[in-house]
Amino acid sequence: MEDVEFLIVGCGPAGAQAAREAARQGIETIVLEKDAVVGAKRVCAAGLRPGFCKTFDLPRELIHFDTPRMALFDEEGTCHAFPVGPAHTTTREELDGTMAELALQAGAQLRTQSLYRKHRVGRDSTTVEYADLQSGQHKQIRARNVFFATGATARLDTDEQLAFPKWEDGLLTCYQYRLYLARPAEPIAYQTLELHYFRAANGRQIVAWMFPKRDHLTVGLGVMGKMPGKELRAELKGFQARVAPRLYPGIASRIKEEGHLLYGGRPRPSIVSGSLMVGGTAAGLVDATNGEGIFEAAMSGRLAADAVATHPNAPNRAAQRYNAGVKGRFYARLKHRDTLMRFLERRPRRFGVLFEQLATTPRFAEILQREDSYLPIIDRFYLYGQALKFAKNAIRA
Ligand SMILES: Cc1cc2nc3c(=O)[nH]c(=O)nc-3n(C[C@H](O)[C@H](O)[C@H](O)COP(=O)(O)OP(=O)(O)OC[C@H]3O[C@@H](n4cnc5c(N)ncnc54)[C@H](O)[C@@H]3O)c2cc1C
Repeated sequence: MEDVEFLIVGCGPAGAQAAREAARQGIETIVLEKDAVVGAKRVCAAGLRPGFCKTFDLPRELIHFDTPRMALFDEEGTCHAFPVGPAHTTTREELDGTMAELALQAGAQLRTQSLYRKHRVGRDSTTVEYADLQSGQHKQIRARNVFFATGATARLDTDEQLAFPKWEDGLLTCYQYRLYLARPAEPIAYQTLELHYFRAANGRQIVAWMFPKRDHLTVGLGVMGKMPGKELRAELKGFQARVAPRLYPGIASRIKEEGHLLYGGRPRPSIVSGSLMVGGTAAGLVDATNGEGIFEAAMSGRLAADAVATHPNAPNRAAQRYNAGVKGRFYARLKHRDTLMRFLERRPRRFGVLFEQLATTPRFAEILQREDSYLPIIDRFYLYGQALKFAKNAIRA
């Protein structure tokens, strides 16, 4: 049995940031990652919120485009645009690869091809069993604190404390194209994050996107629950045909297709069990209105590292500190976003009402991009006023 101070399962933004920040503080840290190359298999639109690199001390070189414009398309295809940040785009192979490299430089150990199998929570430690995919051996590590950051496929039902029966209901099936164009698209494509909200042929709500990258455009969509592959492919083909004449008219492209699950429901009610902490998408830290979760994941990693460093000899107290930190920072906003999304979905005309209000009231759009926990009182009142205005118009719609 191997022993370590801090064990992290999963090397996405949550796991990698936790590893980097813990190792920087002298904590002995091991990361288990099932893939051979970090980030190589991540399917993601990889839009980043303004200031992401500065917040997490990451090199600006991983940014493909600064996108100062957000364009929201309602169910009738009407565009409502407003300024943002600028936000940024990247790819996950670059982002996750860079974050993992920085964790290694800080002194963390990364074990790729290491597949988590199960865990057992003890009084002051957690034992994790994993498969070494290279040797085929089953191995165990006992850790003072464990940070579980395995993303949307996280299965935590065997842990009574963490089990969340509604997890499956929040899963979205995502499918996207990387479009490698024969020549550049229209200039506006490289300045904009596009989000489209419309109904599928079978009546289900779809959220679709177009995010620009250095050598391709990411054009994709997500739908709540499972949808037969044929129908999903037809929806994406139809969506691509709608955006092509505006963004890359008559330009030939080579397409790479990719699919993955995204979680888009309410955050997991319980995110700690003994000295075990759950972060990132595994904790349900995703904005249900737009699928944003990279910032939340990386920030949960930071909070986990901080908790372990603050209580080096009291792992359960570290987990409690983490629990309070994550819930205080994210839960109110993410629950509101989930409630808002369900409200909009019930009557799709409401999307247009909200987007029009955002496009015509830039201050409203700007405040919504900030985190609730840092809003001065004057902005909170402004936000409540705008929320009331929206509710009044949405109920009439
Ligand atoms: C199609 C799509 C588009 C998206 N677009 C955006 C966007 O534009 N902006 C944004 O902010 N968010 C976006 N998201 C959400 C974003 O991808 C997640 O919120 C983010 O990846 C969460 O990071 P994480 O570290 O929690 O998990 P992940 O990034 O999912 O990382 C989990 C890691 O754990 C590893 N792992 C999983 N199981 C095991 C196991 N059993 N053993 C060992 N390792 C394991 C995985 O290989 C992976 O490396 C999108 C998601 C999807 C699916």
